Amino acid sequence: MLRDSFGRVATDLRVSLTDKCNLRCTYCMPPEGLDWLPNAQLLTADEIVRLVTIGVERLGITEVRYTGGEPLLRRELTDIVARTTALRPRPQVSLTTNGIGLARTADALAAAGLDRVNVSLDTLDRDTFKRLAHRDRLPDVLDGLAAAHRAGLRPVKVNAVLMREINQHEAVPLLRWCLEQGYELRFIEQMPLDAQHGWSRDAMVTADEILALLSASFDLTPDDLEERGSAPAERFLVDGGPARVGVIGSVTRPFCGACDRVRLTADGQIRNCLFAREESDLKAAMRAGATDDELADRWRAAVAGKRPGHGIDDPTFLQPARPMSAIGG
Ligand code: SF4
Repeated sequence: MLRDSFGRVATDLRVSLTDKCNLRCTYCMPPEGLDWLPNAQLLTADEIVRLVTIGVERLGITEVRYTGGEPLLRRELTDIVARTTALRPRPQVSLTTNGIGLARTADALAAAGLDRVNVSLDTLDRDTFKRLAHRDRLPDVLDGLAAAHRAGLRPVKVNAVLMREINQHEAVPLLRWCLEQGYELRFIEQMPLDAQHGWSRDAMVTADEILALLSASFDLTPDDLEERGSAPAERFLVDGGPARVGVIGSVTRPFCGACDRVRLTADGQIRNCLFAREESDLKAAMRAGATDDELADRWRAAVAGKRPGHGIDDPTFLQPARPMSAIGG
């Protein structure tokens, strides 16, 4: 098992398949993009599957989420998903994506055994999308969502980040639209993980504010508080249910005490937390000939040293050197 010194057990593995993305969302990276990792530094598909297999077969990983950057940019994605769903015990396998390209790939991914998708969508307004993401791709995202729903990758989850004076006024329209489409919407507080280090607490729309905005138009009742466990979203029944909305108060309502996540970056580093300051280099060990046992031992040691939480409110808090796109969300 992957147990840390606070007794938490990591069972949820987030694997970044690439640091590249085809959008340039302002809360993630600058309009000109970043210096992407050279291909030789990326794990190959075989290396990814080897490490995921070690995680599932030896270390108790029960859920694997492929992410990025934008994971749909990785050509071997369907193959990687198929090889992951073939593992025993079979892990749950999901994808976090911006949705561009999903219209073309959703059926193949469903056939490969993918269980679910989370699609990022912050606005339904084409001009706002262009302003936020520096690309005119809203129709592609909407097509991708529809394709995922048709392919049975349900519940299709939509992740939205609200920003003051940009899309804050879209909280209610976004929820109304997701309810109509049968998607499950989750609002996520913006975290200090942007490459430009431009995050500020004042600009962040808090979970309390999101709930106040929604409550003006919907009747929200807390749902399954007993069962929340390690799930980051506080879920609410909308107008009595069964439809729900989630609010992820990553900053103001941290859930680190129940965290069950561990991350593998596209260049083969284990990160025990989004905000970890240290990484453990499994790629170098693997390429130097480490056995599966040795890799598992390194991985256990990396998780053992996990800190209690993100410490964003701590005066000594340091934003990680890697931006979100290079960590994997
Ligand atoms: S900030 Fe770190 S410890 Fe807290 S929930 Fe996220 S990954 Fe887990």
